[in-house]
Amino acid sequence: MTTHSLLILPGDGIGPEVMTEVRKIIDWFGAKRDLPFDVSEDLVGGCAYDKHGTPLHDDTMAKAQEVDAVLLGAVGGPKYDDLDFSVKPERGLLRLRKEMDLFANLRPAQCFDALADFSSLKKDIVSGLDIMIVRELTSGIYFGEPRGIFKEGNERVGINTQRYTESEIDRVARAAFELARRRGNKVCSMEKANVMESGILWREVVNRVHQESYADVELSHMYADNGAMQLVRAPKQFDVIVTDNLFGDILSDCAAMLTGSLGMLPSASLGAPMANGRPKALYEPVHGSAPDIADQAKANPIACILSFAMALRYSFDQGDEAARLEQAVESVLASGARTADLMGPEGGTPVSTSDMGDAVLRALDASL
Ligand code: NAD
Repeated sequence: MTTHSLLILPGDGIGPEVMTEVRKIIDWFGAKRDLPFDVSEDLVGGCAYDKHGTPLHDDTMAKAQEVDAVLLGAVGGPKYDDLDFSVKPERGLLRLRKEMDLFANLRPAQCFDALADFSSLKKDIVSGLDIMIVRELTSGIYFGEPRGIFKEGNERVGINTQRYTESEIDRVARAAFELARRRGNKVCSMEKANVMESGILWREVVNRVHQESYADVELSHMYADNGAMQLVRAPKQFDVIVTDNLFGDILSDCAAMLTGSLGMLPSASLGAPMANGRPKALYEPVHGSAPDIADQAKANPIACILSFAMALRYSFDQGDEAARLEQAVESVLASGARTADLMGPEGGTPVSTSDMGDAVLRALDASL
């Protein structure tokens, strides 16, 4: 039996609360599905700063490099707002992403039927939606040089540079094609090749990777501005969308909110393959540490639970077990259980964080 290693970094605010529920689910898979995990836990963010004076200790970074996957809760909070930029809680997260070289950020937008009314779009446009945005995460305009605010004559000029190498485009395109093969087998690549040279190169490289290695996957191209329109007009036309760092930042937020609450949204950031063939990986909910509801048992643990489902699928090759967990969440929502963030205008009594975790465990039991 293979034991999978998992480093858990609950972090700050509601991070530890939602992670407690995920720990129960990890234990369930060990006990009931013969899927033992070798779990270690450590500090990241404000709590790491409190103990070590840094938001990510070197030993924690080293552990993250060794394990099969890292699962993170959330970092930050008002207590740390005035810290120097170099030790702010978010720096811990950025260091993990940078040193693990996590170049592909996966943001699914999946609409659970029970929550279709939560979308700002009409129910029939989002019901059954299941798309995946792959955003390039380590290059592009957020990193390109030159950058800065410079003096030019009598005024200042702000400069950022969009820069992509062929190999950076190649590897994120491959990640998208690989994903598509496990899903609906379609990739739509988005850039602005009509006005940006980096977009022309992006399209060329995606086409080359497609022809060389993924001709079985259906590929289309779209200008990113049209892509934004299509996402709100007819999002179900997409399966996997691959795009650069800047467009991906915007398009993934737009797609995510088609499906409702921040408390529901998981994510994965993947890097190069390790010796076992699986990518280096960090899984985390999209939401932050939600200090406004921390320590009140109000947090929705589903985003973190679904992040673990992504780990099952992408790091541990357990697609069927990931689907089991996602279906358990779906059935809990269909039964009407709602944390406070999922309460509609009709009101009702919200369940607590641990009630929601327990309901998912019962649904998992019922799936056997
Ligand atoms: P946030 O995501 O923490 O909260 C935004 C709103 O959504 C809040 O009203 C919160 O109560 C609600 N919310 C978020 N997650 C929820 C959940 N699971 N269940 C129910 N409601 C939920 O964003 P923010 O308020 O802008 O930031 C708070 C702190 O988190 C800041 O310190 C920020 O820097 C940090 N942050 C961290 C991450 C991360 O760790 N990846 C991401 C974003 C923000």
